[in-house]
Amino acid sequence: MRYMFNNCQDAMAICKRFGYPDLFITMTCNANWKEIQDFVTPRGLRADDRPDIVARVFKMKLNDLMSNLKKGKIFGEVQAGTYTIEFQKRGLPHAHILIWLQGEGKLKTGDDIDKVISAEFPDPVLYPALSAAVSNYMMHGPCGFANMNYACMKNGKCEKFFPKQFQNSTTIDEEGYPKYRRRDTGVSVTKKDIVMDNRYVVPYNPDLLMRYHAHINVEYCNKSNSIKYLFKYVNKGPDRVSVEISNRDKDSNKEKGVDEINQYYDCKYLSPCEAAWRIFGFYIHDKWPPVNRLSFHLPNEQSVTFKDHEWIDTVVERNQDMDTEFTTWFKANQESELGKDLTYAEFPQRFVYDEDKRIWTVRKKGFSIGRLNYIPMGTGELFYMRVLLTIQKGCTSFDSIKTVNGVLYQTYKEVCYILGLLKDDREYIDGIKEASDLGSGPQLR
Ligand SMILES: [Zn+2]
Repeated sequence: MRYMFNNCQDAMAICKRFGYPDLFITMTCNANWKEIQDFVTPRGLRADDRPDIVARVFKMKLNDLMSNLKKGKIFGEVQAGTYTIEFQKRGLPHAHILIWLQGEGKLKTGDDIDKVISAEFPDPVLYPALSAAVSNYMMHGPCGFANMNYACMKNGKCEKFFPKQFQNSTTIDEEGYPKYRRRDTGVSVTKKDIVMDNRYVVPYNPDLLMRYHAHINVEYCNKSNSIKYLFKYVNKGPDRVSVEISNRDKDSNKEKGVDEINQYYDCKYLSPCEAAWRIFGFYIHDKWPPVNRLSFHLPNEQSVTFKDHEWIDTVVERNQDMDTEFTTWFKANQESELGKDLTYAEFPQRFVYDEDKRIWTVRKKGFSIGRLNYIPMGTGELFYMRVLLTIQKGCTSFDSIKTVNGVLYQTYKEVCYILGLLKDDREYIDGIKEASDLGSGPQLR
């Protein structure tokens, strides 16, 4: 849970820095990929017999995709990206990817969207291969009356509103939702006796589809109200199942002492493919640029690590004068003016922390986003210190955080009052606001 929460906060830190993501891409593993089939077919196997091969091949393709996105080969310059891997029960892996485009490349109009996303068949004469790929991988359904059991069907209706309506141009409605161009061109494919035309095409990017030959849905997503939904999607927990271990063997009834009969386990369900993924140590989440979780503490309240057999005196002695990531931030500011205009969370933009040497040095390359660890409000002074750390720049000591216009105050809470940060329940409002960026209704309550 903590892990999920951190990932969500990391994604929010990227949002705070770069705004809302521009593209939401879902890449689904294709069991017929040549790399998989080349292995299983000669051995008389099927793809599900070798989840390890499926996991490896999907990881290769995903790495290639992410690297092409990062290098700007598909959608132009990209500022940031995240992915989350999901496994359907007994199913194949798929990746949910969020992409933040560079300023000029941002999609603002219907025409901009048309350049990177299509929801139509291409001309089958001019582009036969692409046309075949669209009909193989990008058709939704058939669902509805043709197949009431299709995954998208909820209460007798297609949850994804297919078939869509014909539409001559791509538009973005007032709420920021796109309606993709789907012209009535007469091009169609017939599946299960259903004639499927442009109204059934799942939005895709032609370049991605031709490169990876898999179901790769690309959606425009620069709309504020969808962000929570996206993060819920991207940070959803693994499927859980309750398992009852019951002993149905009659003979064992004689040994009544065993409690296991009525034991329930709350288990996490892992599909074979997910198990292989985790055994290989592949990431479930990844992102760039890196998000730096910054630790901070009140004077002498830093956490220290020690081995359980160590003497307390040794531990104290070793740690008492040892600097932390936080206190070395003070030191860096004492020694250099370079970070004078930066808050603690902004500091990693220009400096890198060396954990072994315990020093911050000037960043030579790359980029990193910092974020302060979350502190619940009930924590008292540490909470108020965190509030101040989002404002105070270039701090050189604990006292400097408590100093405003040359006056040193007693407590962090007092400074928050002086600066008007606690007026009109603002701390509560800000707290709820921050939580509302991250959580769904039930989580908030
Ligand atoms: Zn449907």
